[in-house]
Amino acid sequence: MAGPALFETYNRVPLRFERGEGVWLTTETGDRYMDFAAGIAVNSLGHAHPHLVAALKDQADKLWHLSNLYDVPGQEKLARRLTEATFADKVFFTNSGAEALECAIKTARRYQFSKGRPDRFHVITFEGAFHGRTLATIAAGGQAKYLEGFGPKVQGFDQVPFGDLEAVKAAITEATAAILMEPVQGEGGLRRVSNEFMRAVRELCDEHGLLLILDEVQCGVGRTGKFFAHEWSGVTPDIMAVAKGIGGGFPLGACLATEEAAGGMKPGTHGTTYGGNPLAMAVGNAVLDVVLAEGFLEHVRDVALVFRQGLEGLKDRFPDVIEEIRGDGLMLGIKAKVMNTDLLMAMRDERLLAVGAGDNVIRLLPPLVVTAAEAREGLARIERAAEKLTKSDLKKTA
Ligand SMILES: *Cc1c(COP(=O)(O)O)cnc(C)c1O
Repeated sequence: MAGPALFETYNRVPLRFERGEGVWLTTETGDRYMDFAAGIAVNSLGHAHPHLVAALKDQADKLWHLSNLYDVPGQEKLARRLTEATFADKVFFTNSGAEALECAIKTARRYQFSKGRPDRFHVITFEGAFHGRTLATIAAGGQAKYLEGFGPKVQGFDQVPFGDLEAVKAAITEATAAILMEPVQGEGGLRRVSNEFMRAVRELCDEHGLLLILDEVQCGVGRTGKFFAHEWSGVTPDIMAVAKGIGGGFPLGACLATEEAAGGMKPGTHGTTYGGNPLAMAVGNAVLDVVLAEGFLEHVRDVALVFRQGLEGLKDRFPDVIEEIRGDGLMLGIKAKVMNTDLLMAMRDERLLAVGAGDNVIRLLPPLVVTAAEAREGLARIERAAEKLTKSDLKKTA
């Protein structure tokens, strides 16, 4: 018998969901789960949000695709709203996070090139980073498990330990073009860059003529309780990669830049077939209608506080299961004392979905529309899962 027809790149959980509504998912057999993974921070407004569904259906009746050889009005509108709400002056739309990062890296290299410094193409990155799965972004992420077997690593990425300012200073050379980091590392285990570190890196960039690139693919679009996570630090980047939450489940990414940083990207230097597609623009604009509405980010911060306090309480009650609570806003992590996969499975038995991360962490990334009551229900399920692990005789991690 032939094996599955799909590439075997994923070990999939044998659950088949048929429908979703808000934070809830229903399987083909009618079992209901709480989705506190949200497609890994993608379903920012939960499942089947009526405003998003209406926007997509409305656009589907009119026009699906046009190519970037013509004006796409939705692009201009979404770009205008993004630039008005952020540090940026210019936007390039993509279909994914990795493509947004590719655009960001190319924009930084091209900036140095256009300033007569073509040898400056190196980008400093941080251990534990995740920037995507293309050849350049696995080189940027620098994780051996993603690089192995794919030929020579794309040149020009210099990695330093997380949060180590002296190492950043030491890594800057005449060949450095930019510094790239996630304000809150997602896949790396919910590690937050301190405001002081962010400011110090900004200063280093200014001092050495480098561009600061932020990867807000996971932590952006309201996830931490600000529109973008870097706003907590008061520091602005020159270039920023966005994706995941901005599409609410529709494939959409964006590379944002200041006018200065985008200065090298002239006609013909970069392109995309699907990026900025009318369907994606309709959904992206609908996401912003909700996220930028008065009170929405405040709601995120309020629920996040309830959720965080509850998790800290569980940490105190189950010190053998939970070591630490990490992260920001509705991007929270449980660093587990048991195997994180065991805790994930116990949570799934309680019909709560979360997602693993590096450093033995479990990521909790509920839709931003989660209510305080739903957060409490999620906490009750995590509590039952922790209780079971305390009672059972599971191996502790060394
Ligand atoms: C998911 C992610 C990416 C890659 O996004 P894709 O859409 O999978 O290409 C890049 N950076 C961060 C921080 C991410 O979380």
